[in-house]
Amino acid sequence: STPVITIDGPGGSGKGTIMLRVARYLGWHTLDSGAMYRVLALAAQKHQVALDDEIGLVRVANQLDVQFTAQPDLSDTRAILEGEDVSVALRTEATGSAASKIAALVGVRQALLNRQRAFRCAPGLVADGRDMGTVVFPDAGVKIFLTASVEERAERRYKQLKGKGMNAKLADLIIEIADRDERDRNRATAPLIPAQDAQIIDTTGVSIEKVVAQILQLVSV
Ligand code: C5P
Repeated sequence: STPVITIDGPGGSGKGTIMLRVARYLGWHTLDSGAMYRVLALAAQKHQVALDDEIGLVRVANQLDVQFTAQPDLSDTRAILEGEDVSVALRTEATGSAASKIAALVGVRQALLNRQRAFRCAPGLVADGRDMGTVVFPDAGVKIFLTASVEERAERRYKQLKGKGMNAKLADLIIEIADRDERDRNRATAPLIPAQDAQIIDTTGVSIEKVVAQILQLVSV
């Protein structure tokens, strides 16, 4: 079947950037699964569905009208929700936090499962998220789990938001990212843990190029 590389890890661990570079090198498709949870959180807010209303959220998920477009300059995936470009709102830490709340609900995860698996197309897929290697693509040939210190991850998020013209306080980001990690790690369904057969790479102080090269070495193409 179509080969898959999964890249999981906490927020700001470099998953998104590394996924895009690996996929560009191989000429493969990408799946930013976090963007799917983020878009669903935005759609819920738009339709006034509470973030703990599991039945309402599942309904919104099943009707979700979204297009994702990979950017040729390797910047973040853009998202069009019901015809509206939500790419900027998508990346705020408030949206990340809302995404992590709805992601704890089993019905929500189930509702998004097939949508995620549908990204698996020839010649191959690089998928990033929290449970790509454990739940969504357990048969992936290469599984990576990225980590980095919370300070470094907050700093990366800070730069990413700045680059989009958004203001954020580094101290606030450290707290928000640490909170979100804790929720993602401790939830009952698909908690953030490495797959048993994942390669764990600590990216603290390591260049993107180096991590990308390390991953490409594991791919036999
Ligand atoms: O990776 P990103 O920061 O965009 O993810 C936002 C939130 O979506 C995460 O904090 C996590 O709770 C949730 N998520 C998830 N499973 C994934 C991807 C993201 O639960 N595969």
